[in-house]
Amino acid sequence: MEGASKRVYEVMIIGGGPGGLTAGLYTSRARLSTLLIEKGLFGGQMTTTECIENYPGFPQGVTGDELSRLMEEQARKFGMETVAQEVVKVSLEEDIKVVQTDESTYRCKALIISTGAEYRKLGVPGENEFAGKGVSYCATCDGAFFRDGRIVVVGGGDSALTEALFLTKFAKELTIIHRRDALRGTKIYQERVLGHPKIKLLWNSIVQEIRGDSTVRSIIVKNVKTGEIKEFETEGAFLFVGVEPRTQFLTGIVETDEGGYILTNEDCETSAMGIFAVGDCRKKLLRQIATAVGDGATAAFAAEKFLELQEQF
Ligand code: NAP
Repeated sequence: MEGASKRVYEVMIIGGGPGGLTAGLYTSRARLSTLLIEKGLFGGQMTTTECIENYPGFPQGVTGDELSRLMEEQARKFGMETVAQEVVKVSLEEDIKVVQTDESTYRCKALIISTGAEYRKLGVPGENEFAGKGVSYCATCDGAFFRDGRIVVVGGGDSALTEALFLTKFAKELTIIHRRDALRGTKIYQERVLGHPKIKLLWNSIVQEIRGDSTVRSIIVKNVKTGEIKEFETEGAFLFVGVEPRTQFLTGIVETDEGGYILTNEDCETSAMGIFAVGDCRKKLLRQIATAVGDGATAAFAAEKFLELQEQF
């Protein structure tokens, strides 16, 4: 194939979020030849986070952009190579892992998957039609378009709460629409949301449709307790109803759960020898920058041990 590299890296990493960058830092410091493949910006979901206040070492908080930049700089410092391409397929040639991107093919002995997760679609009429015209999945990207506007945030997890708090910088009025009568997100975010003068809560409610003309004008909301259906005027709908792992390109290569999350043991080893998974794309209890970083270090060390064992045979 054109552009295909004959070189066999000791380690390749797919995904440049905190888990992948930490894995790259550790493998390159272990003097293993390392290639990290990232299709977009380094930092993963951190790049769309305004302020990170639960990553140790930054008592005043740190912007997602800054932490991404620092992690990337630190990983590169020890020799990690990178390419900006999208991985479309992984296959196996005996012990060698073959990674096919939209532009080339790469080979390695140990592969670390750190592709993270992306926001789940709500799946209602109007969602796709108004994407980018009032429907958004990123407050830091789109919040400023709604200065003095009236907007809604859908969801009750950490994403919905933190993004809603950020959006109060711009919005005149913000309503969080949640399908239950209790929030899922971290208590400190709940306290801030419930005490915020600009934020209202619409409990036990689901969005059934998003309506508008050239942009969003309203949403249809159903109260799941009473069955009442109302049209709710809004200029924007920010949807944070959970995440889905980016693991489709691995079908048939590693075992996943029914949601597509990669199954690993505590050393981040997957069901395929020499393939490791870290961060939000693997099945785990807590998805945070701190846990992704821990996974990255573990997987890198496990990959190093795996390569040492391979050498012996
Ligand atoms: P999440 O924790 O899975 O929360 C998703 C929310 O959307 C839940 O409140 C859920 O309701 C609701 N929901 C799901 N499907 C829905 C549907 N079809 N219609 C209406 N509502 C629906 O997802 P997340 O908030 O994106 O967070 C993902 C992970 O990232 C979590 O582990 C989270 O802790 C982490 N995260 C952390 C931070 C932080 O620490 N600063 C920030 C962002 C994300 P129910 O509650 O009823 O299930």
